[in-house]
Amino acid sequence: MVTGQIQAWAATTFQKNKGFRARNLKIFRELETTGTPACKGRLMVISGASGSGKSTVVKRLAEDLRVSPYVSISATTRPVRAGEKDGEDYFFLSREEFQTLQREGNLLESAEVHGNFYGTPAKPVLEQTLQGRLVILEIDVQGARQIKERLPDAVFVFIHAPDMATLESRLRGRGTDSEDVIQKRLENARREIAESHWYDHQIVNDHLDRTLGELIALWSGLITQGA
Ligand code: ADP
Ligand code: 5GP
Repeated sequence: MVTGQIQAWAATTFQKNKGFRARNLKIFRELETTGTPACKGRLMVISGASGSGKSTVVKRLAEDLRVSPYVSISATTRPVRAGEKDGEDYFFLSREEFQTLQREGNLLESAEVHGNFYGTPAKPVLEQTLQGRLVILEIDVQGARQIKERLPDAVFVFIHAPDMATLESRLRGRGTDSEDVIQKRLENARREIAESHWYDHQIVNDHLDRTLGELIALWSGLITQGA
């Protein structure tokens, strides 16, 4: 179903943005002409407060050969953290570069999170969906809402830390953020958790292996439904 919705989204985007169509003509021709079966291409949206463990879980899922998902690489204006690589963890852009992508319709969704801009490049998501792979978007609740409006058949998963104290100690333990960034993320955490009620699945990330097991079970269910 998701594939059909992506076709509809792409068709609207064509009309609004001729430049985007021109740059991605090959993909859009395929979208318009192939009768891609509904079981092909699944989109899983994963959100959770900063420090809940989303990136860790998604990284582990990406290494699972059974699932072999395509994990979308977001564009962001946030500064690079130690150990992060441009084009692998994120596409690190200036505000001007980000706004150009946005203006030209190249982002599937975008949002301002913790004072920086983040967005999902549309092209690789479209390509990978067409190839029938599970596509994972690890994005905040504002972006997830935009995807829900455009592609309501995507599967929405919210990852929780066991409690706020654990969330805080994970944020500190990660050792990547300054104190004021940690405070901003904790403030935002309550707002994000309050949004979790509309997600299809809520997972408490207590033991990493159990969390992974739940996500893999979810993925197998999707494959079975689509078969
Ligand atoms: P997020 O992407 O949600 O901001 P991270 O994946 O960066 O969170 O995880 C935050 C910290 O918590 C990291 O140091 C990570 O190693 C740790 N962590 C993640 N999942 C677990 C878990 N199930 N148990 C203990 N620590 C965890
Ligand atoms: P971080 O800076 O810790 O990597 O991510 C901060 C927040 O931004 C997280 O909640 C993460 O899910 C969210 N995020 C990352 N990429 C995107 C994106 O492409 N779109 C949106 N809306 N949020 C994103």
